[in-house]
Amino acid sequence: MFEKILIANRGEIALRILRAAKELGIATVAVHSTADADAMHVKLADESVCIGPPPARDSYLNIPALLAACEITGADAIHPGYGFLSENARFAEILADHNIAFIGPKAEHIRIMGDKIEAKRTAKALGIPCVPGSEGGITDDVEAMRVAREIGYPVLVKAASGGGGRGMKVARTEADLSNALQNARTEAKAAFGDDAVYLEKYLEKPRHIEIQILGDGLGNAIHLGERDCSLQRRHQKVLEESPSPALNAEQRADIGEICAAAMRKLKYSGAGTIEFLYEEDKFYFIEMNTRIQVEHPVTEMITGIDLVNEQIRIAAGSPLSIRQEDVRFEGAAIECRVNAEHHATFRPSPGKIAYYHPPGGLGVRVDSAVYQGYTIPPNYDSLVGKLIVHGRNRTEALMRLRRALDEFIVDGIDTTLPLFRTLVRNADVQNGQYDIHWLEKFLATGGMEP
Ligand code: ADP
Repeated sequence: MFEKILIANRGEIALRILRAAKELGIATVAVHSTADADAMHVKLADESVCIGPPPARDSYLNIPALLAACEITGADAIHPGYGFLSENARFAEILADHNIAFIGPKAEHIRIMGDKIEAKRTAKALGIPCVPGSEGGITDDVEAMRVAREIGYPVLVKAASGGGGRGMKVARTEADLSNALQNARTEAKAAFGDDAVYLEKYLEKPRHIEIQILGDGLGNAIHLGERDCSLQRRHQKVLEESPSPALNAEQRADIGEICAAAMRKLKYSGAGTIEFLYEEDKFYFIEMNTRIQVEHPVTEMITGIDLVNEQIRIAAGSPLSIRQEDVRFEGAAIECRVNAEHHATFRPSPGKIAYYHPPGGLGVRVDSAVYQGYTIPPNYDSLVGKLIVHGRNRTEALMRLRRALDEFIVDGIDTTLPLFRTLVRNADVQNGQYDIHWLEKFLATGGMEP
């Protein structure tokens, strides 16, 4: 097992990793920028190292500084969390060259899944259902027209190196297509320096359903069910739940086993998420995230499995400790991502937290790194914390969420808590009747009073 883990991240996920390491009896090193000197992860770690000025590229993304911090402290492993260097295959290789373990999958798998065309090709070859579309990149308009006719309109033009929903254009008719191709290429070139695009059937009202998997790199892999993350704004997840209101046990077992089998073939190592769009009882692969995800606690709440603990043990060479038949899905869990943003305009609101009172009680978990008197710096993401509730069933979880939200007080800054208080009382949300466009429509039609 590792002796000392350096956490190459900040905020709530740094705390989350710290907790898992401590419970394994492993020493921890926090790294921080000068903007984060007062951060909670720095206070709770056994040691800390300042690695640079506030901009992430000079601190949390600064590979030489991270290597130096390992050297100074004698850390033998790095956990990258999510974001930052978590899906950087080169970083994983550099660590290997320095005999430092990367707590994540093999560089080769990060690289495949980081390229959207390559990821889709691999998924298809592994038997994972994909959105109908072009086999690879599309270079000329005539070829695009042929593919679009074959799959049927509407079609979606997507950037091969896309991310955050950029470089995506819908074409509803053949007349729209050459414009959509042109616009997607220009946007992709500007955003990613790569104008390669591909085509997919555009799904009108899908849900976003993702499968959590764990593999040990030795050929064993299991699935831990799904998370429904359909409530999104600008392609950012806002509320996640498990189980999905749209799936039954048989559908879960089927898609779960398809994913686990694929990961066994790949000899995948660590935690991963296979993301799908789901429409009319069918799953369509969109991408795989080769890291721990923000919304992982909903899976932990219904399975009782500590995903970060598993990541660490797997990276240290242990085989999976759980068999598929031992995984139990108990009750329902819901997570709200509370951001430092205005609840209706979504204007960022960094600043000092004048008063802070998190909710508690049975089935309530708050993953956050803020405290009363803490100043949220403007340099990073705006996550204040995640409120996760668990109930014996979805109805109980919703009632618990409602009361926990009413207890939660964050004064001095704007937060999205009022949005969640409204959502939890909404009939569509209560009935689980929403797709990936529901929240945008709700907001556009005045669902939230300013
Ligand atoms: P990115 O990496 O840019 O986030 P994704 O492929 O993950 O791109 O897609 C982002 C979002 O775009 C999805 O969550 C979904 O809302 C929408 N989307 C992607 N592909 C399709 C599709 N074929 N049909 C409809 N919507 C899609």
